[in-house]
This record gives sequence, structure tokens and C-alpha cells, in this order.
Amino acid sequence: MNFEDLRLDKSLLEAVRTAGYETPTPIQAEVIPLVIDGKDVLGCAQTGTGKTAAFALPILQRLGDAPPPQHRTNYKNDGKPRPRPPARKVRCLVLAPTRELAVQIADSFGTYGKFGRLKHTAVFGGVNKGPQFRTLRAGVDILVATPGRLLDHMSDGAVSLDSIEILVLDEADRMLDMGFMPDIRRILSKIPKKRQTLLLSATMPPPIRKLARDILDNPVSVEVARVSAPAVAVDHWSYRVEKDGKPALLSALLDHTAISRALVFTRTKYGADKVVRHLSRAGVKADAIHGNKSQNARTRALAAFKAGKTAVLVATDIAARGLDIDDISHVINYVLTNEPETYIHRIGRTGRAGASGTALSFVSSEDHGSLRDIERLLRTVLQPAIDFPGYNAAEALASQGNGTGKSRGSSGNRNRGGGGGGGASDRFAPKRGGSGRSTKSRPRSGRPRRSAAS
Ligand code: AMP
Repeated sequence: MNFEDLRLDKSLLEAVRTAGYETPTPIQAEVIPLVIDGKDVLGCAQTGTGKTAAFALPILQRLGDAPPPQHRTNYKNDGKPRPRPPARKVRCLVLAPTRELAVQIADSFGTYGKFGRLKHTAVFGGVNKGPQFRTLRAGVDILVATPGRLLDHMSDGAVSLDSIEILVLDEADRMLDMGFMPDIRRILSKIPKKRQTLLLSATMPPPIRKLARDILDNPVSVEVARVSAPAVAVDHWSYRVEKDGKPALLSALLDHTAISRALVFTRTKYGADKVVRHLSRAGVKADAIHGNKSQNARTRALAAFKAGKTAVLVATDIAARGLDIDDISHVINYVLTNEPETYIHRIGRTGRAGASGTALSFVSSEDHGSLRDIERLLRTVLQPAIDFPGYNAAEALASQGNGTGKSRGSSGNRNRGGGGGGGASDRFAPKRGGSGRSTKSRPRSGRPRRSAAS
């Protein structure tokens, strides 16, 4: 199937070509015609499947380039100054759980709508409301928003939702997890009942099914990946390692394996900063992205990572949600999640749009229950990393000065197949001056030893 078969307008086809897409992904092939036909859709799809284009392209088509409807003006001649009504009213609202996802969705509308005349913007918390207020007052056709900030703008009178024709709830399960359901219900009460609604979620827990029943009208269900299905083309490996051995294991992996761009997950903001400090001391360029960082710091970190200036991004789950970064070669679960579905979200960051990826999980003795749950959901085992290509854990840890005895269980019998020398990217070894290939005998004096146990 080609994009031309999906009844998309010329300008959209041109935008898709410019974006470098050759064929529609499965969710695009299914959802685009449904949305063009005005159907409500309940989509079970994770990030990385091309779901954003699946709804953004047909929405742009449906809104078209027609002049926005004249909104009602109801001026009373009471002498009070009234704010000038916006030039256009919001016709499509997309709700998303995080600022990063909101920005990415808005960027996608920009990419696919570049040859059209519709205006879009994203509003989200954590930044000054002023510029967003002014953009909203100037009028947009498509608004992407996180729920809390949207409610703020609504109560400030910056935006009205009474002209909404299309509503999208993206990553609904994450919005549920983040406690946004009451906000969403409040927003829904201000949107016209007669509208088209699309609800997308990576998983379909009962509260999301209930929400779907409440807000969708005779929807078509589209399930691109099973609820439990991980992104295809991702290899899963596990490392038995206790907490104190993790810094050394991470450095060793970055050094000994062909990792070109890694997203590292920790559970806490503090933990994320700690990993960054460890990597910086070891000479690896890394940044953290989490809720305590200002929006500007997060944007900068993301841009540097996307541009390849930093090779490692350390993130908490909420901050990483929806990140759209191509070519992440490895997702590293520095701290394993105890929610199997979060594991699927995490690894959805690699192996995107058909590329292959690798997920490496550090498993401590406390994590065995979580590991079992994840493996049950995946219906596969996270292969113990004895034979992980190019990696020899015992050798790597020993060379970090972090004896195998210290990181109980992290080595022992799992060094049989490795062999070292994985051709690590130069970006991971800025202090080294060599070719970037690691060898058994290579001295590691460039790295402070204390970093291994910090
Ligand atoms: P999403 O699931 O919407 O987050 O998209 C994941 C990634 O796939 C993004 O980087 C998109 O730019 C990319 N993408 C979306 N559709 C296609 C397509 N048809 N062909 C190639 N890449 C795509």
C-alpha cells in the first residue's frame, strides 16, 4: 500500500514525501481512511508505530484549508472593554500527557501541514503562560495541550473549546496514570458533543475502556500491536547486577559494545542526576531529562541528544514518555521498572519505525518479581547477557576496578561468550584518544576509578 492509496490531498502527500516516508505503517494504513470518513476510532497502539501521522494527516485533511467558521460574538453594549475575539477558533484539540509529547505532536502537525494554511500550537505547563496566552488569543486551528495547562488557559479566557470538531486523546493510559482523568472530564464537559473523537492508548486498562465507552460514538477499534506486544525488532538482554555494581556495568557497556545512542532509564530524578554525574566523571557526554529540569534545560538536552552531541540521555519514565528520537540503538533499564507495561513503553523508544534496537536491563536481586512479570507480559525471557555481542562483563568490571565480588551476580558465569572489543562509538570515549575499539589489554587510566563505585 502507498500513501497515494489513502485518499490524502496532494499537499499532504508532498509533506509525507518531504518527511522521507515511503510507505504507510500498519496503523496509518488502517486509521487514515477511517478518520477521513469521519469515524470515531479507539486505537491500541504504542509510540514508534507511526500513530501520530495516523491521526495528524487525516485531521489536516478534514480541516482542510477552508476559512475558519465565523464564531459568535455576543457583545453587550455595557461600556466595558471586551478582549478582541481570536481571529480563528480551535477546531481540533489533542490532549497529551507530557510537554515533550505535546511538543512532538505539534511538530508533527507542522511537518505534515507545512504546505497548508492551518495554524497549530502546543501549550503545556512548566513555562511562562504569557507567550502561550498571546498565541492562543491570536487564534489557532489545532491545539495540542497537556490537560492542566489547558484548564489554566480556559479559566484565563485565552481559549474556548466550543468550536471543536475533532478531539484526540493521545496516550490515554499515561494520562490516567498521571492522574489527569478529572481534568480530562472537566475539559470534555466544555467540548461540543457533536464531534469526531479519537482515543489512542498503548494499553487498555478498564478505566480507559470505560472512558472510551463514555466519549466515543460507535467507534472502530484498531489494534496494531497486542496490548502485551513490545516494539518489534528489539532484542532483550538482562544483566544480574546489584546496585553498587551498576555504574561500572554501565561504563563497561558503553565502552565495550557498539552502542551509538542510548536512552538510560532510572526510577527517580535524583537517580537520573546521579547517573549523569557518574558518566561525566567517566568522560561520557550525558544529560538528564526529568521533571525537576526547566523546560529550557529539557529542550536543550533533547536537542543535543537528537543532534548526536550527547550520546546518552538519562530519563525518568514520565519525562521520556513520547520522546520521538530516531536511531536510539539501546534502551538501558538502569533501574528495572516494576510495571511491565512501563517496560514496553521504555523499549518503545528503540526499534522505531522498523529499525532494530536493543534493550538492556540491569536486574538486581530485588527485581526478580518485576522481571518475572515483564517476561510474562512479553511472553519471552530477557536473555541473560552471557552471549551479548562484544561484551564480557567480568573483564569489563575488573578493568573498571570494580571487582566481581563487589557486584554480586553481575559477572560470575556470564562472561563466557563475550570476548570484548565491540567497536564502541568514539562518542563514548572522548578521553581515550584511540580508535574507540576496546581491547582486553587496553589501559583504562583515563577514567577515575572512584567513578566505578559512585
Ligand atoms: P510515532 O509512533 O508517531 O511516535 O512515530 C514514530 C516515528 O516514526 C517518528 O519518528 C516518525 O517520524 C516516524 N514515521 C511515522 N510514519 C512513518 C512512515 N510511514 N515511514 C517512516 N517513518 C515514519
